[in-house]
Amino acid sequence: MNRDEFDRSLMLDGNAAAGDLMEIFGREMTEEPVECSNCGRVQFVGSLMAFAGGPGLVLRCPSCHAVLLCSASLRGIACVDVRWILAS
Ligand SMILES: [Zn+2]
Repeated sequence: MNRDEFDRSLMLDGNAAAGDLMEIFGREMTEEPVECSNCGRVQFVGSLMAFAGGPGLVLRCPSCHAVLLCSASLRGIACVDVRWILAS
């Protein structure tokens, strides 16, 4: 398996992550547009590929599969990395 392969059996759509995103950002996020820093595609958060089977949440671009958001809760503190999303 190369680093770009992932287990699609763990994949959900971004809408399935709505509850986690609400907890992190304090508001509805699935209809927010985001731009992928890797391929430039602009899409709604709800259309991203979500993986929630690990210790946290990972959202990937459905076009190029780049990771756009990672989050995990450590000792009750939400840690979020969104460096791969371009501000629009
Ligand atoms: Zn992309």
